[in-house]
This record gives sequence, C-alpha cells and structure tokens, in this order.
Amino acid sequence: MSWEQLSERQPRVVKTLTNSVKKDRLAHAYVFEGGHGTGKMDMALQIAKTFLCRETTSVEPCGVCKDCKRIDSGNHPDVHIVQPEGQSIKIDQIRGLQKEFAYHGMESDKKVYIVEHADRMTVQAANSLLKFLEEPTSSTIAFLLTEQVHRLLETILSRSQVVSFSPLPPEQLMKSLQEEDISLPMAAMAAALTSDKSEALEICRQEWFAQARDKVIQLTEELKTRPSQVFVSLQDNWLSFFKEKDQLDNALSLLLIWYKDLLFIQLSEPEHLVFVDQRQALEQQALHTSQKRISEKMLAILTAKQRLGANVNPQLLMEQLVLRLREG
Ligand SMILES: [Zn+2]
Repeated sequence: MSWEQLSERQPRVVKTLTNSVKKDRLAHAYVFEGGHGTGKMDMALQIAKTFLCRETTSVEPCGVCKDCKRIDSGNHPDVHIVQPEGQSIKIDQIRGLQKEFAYHGMESDKKVYIVEHADRMTVQAANSLLKFLEEPTSSTIAFLLTEQVHRLLETILSRSQVVSFSPLPPEQLMKSLQEEDISLPMAAMAAALTSDKSEALEICRQEWFAQARDKVIQLTEELKTRPSQVFVSLQDNWLSFFKEKDQLDNALSLLLIWYKDLLFIQLSEPEHLVFVDQRQALEQQALHTSQKRISEKMLAILTAKQRLGANVNPQLLMEQLVLRLREG
C-alpha cells in the first residue's frame, strides 16, 4: 500500500503521520484507536516500512528493498507484532518483546513493535509495557492498536500520541462487507445502520435483520395498497415481531431509510439507494407522493423514535405513526 491509497481511507491520519515523517518527528509510542476495519494495522506497517526502508529518501517507502519486502511478508526481524493469546495479552508476551529489544537490531538499531488489541493486555502486561514506554530510545517505535481506547491505562495514554481513525464511509464499508460474501442488499442495509465493521457483520449474519427488513418493505407496501388493513397487520405482523424496544427502534430506523430512498428516487439519485433490490417498488410508491410529503413522513418517524425513547406505549406509538404515514 502507498500513502496515497491509505489516504483514501484516512486522509487526516495520513496527513498527520507523513508530516511527522517529513520533519523527522515520529513519536516513540502511538495509540491507534478506531473501529474494526479502519486500517490501523496497515497504517502501522506503512510507518514501519518508511522507518526501516534504507533505499528511500522521501516519505514513501521504496516497496522493493529487502526491508520493505520482509515487512510485506510479515517476517522482518525488527518488526514484532503481539496479539492476544486466547482472551488476553499476557505478561510473558510483553517480557518476550522486551527481551527481543534488549538486543541490538538484526539489521540496524531500529525496531518497531505493534500490539494488536492493546486493551486486552492484563494489568501485569500493561504495567510491564509501561516501564518500556518510560525508557524510550530514538530507534524504537511502538504502536498500540485498539478498538476500545477507554480501556487503556491512563498512564499508557499519557506516554503515547493518540491517533483516532475515522469510521469507514458507507460505500467502503459496503465494499468490504461484500468481500466477505455478504449480499449487496444486506451490505447496504448494514452500512446504513452502522459504520463499525464488526457490528455490520453481526447485523448481516443475524437472520432477524433480514426478516425485519422484509417486514418494513411489507408495511410500506400495505400502506399504499391496503391502507384500511394496515392496523390489522400492525397487530399480526409488526408488533408481534418487534417486541422489544430496541427491536422497534431498529425497525423505525429501517423505515426511515425506506423513506430516504423514496426521496432519492424523487431526486433521480438511485445510486444512493439502500433498499437496492426494491427499486421498482420504490419507483411505484414515489409516483404518488411529493418530496414535501416524504420529508413530513420522515419527520413523523423521527418523532416516533424520540417518543419510543421516552417510553411511550409501542402500540399507541405505531398506530399514530401509521396514521401519519397513510396520509397522501
Ligand atoms: Zn524499501
């Protein structure tokens, strides 16, 4: 990967880090924090390459020298990666690291270590690492990667430069979900509900969400074709399925996305659709309404979401919402 490629995902982070490289001011310890799949490891390895490549004279590693190639293949003798063994990172793993670092580098004096899921260090391991961070040498860079920065010791954070990684934009999250064999409609839905990849994968793998999605499509269809029947079906198909408060909240989020999609159809921007496989139904529904009406309905759904948060009875809430959605 090049800085330019990384910049597509994390422009702000790349700018900060490449500036430090240019000024020869890389920190001794970094905490990279951000959701799953935001590119923390790729970024750490890129810095490692820039730091260890002996061919390059710019901020970009050459990519072809022995150092670069060894980092790419994951067997550079001066780049150490620590990952949890089972549930946690144990003190022996950190001690092993310290032992490695007590020797001079194999190729030069420079060394890089990367701790993945640094929040899973045991207290003993974290304290042991802390001693290490307290005695920085100019030839060492530490990267602590975490999705849960609040679980790191304050003392570790204060000795590191904390770099926050932005959540993935929906298009990239969708692409990366599809690479894991998730269908386009499910990937689009998950990416509209969350920007965290682990959470998105969980959504896609739950049968419940696929069913919830169908219920939402069904409700909008009934609102249009059998408005007088919709209260019956609200009882039989909707409230019996979305029993818990957070389930109903998710359902309302999906309903909101449906109306947003209607708006995109009206605006002739189908490339933004989330219900990608429902274009025909959306186009049919969009024929009989206006942008103004769609906006009003979206507002009604948002209000219902707020009222749900304020513990209004779900049945009452849905009945009132359906009245608003049925009009015009
Ligand atoms: Zn190189």
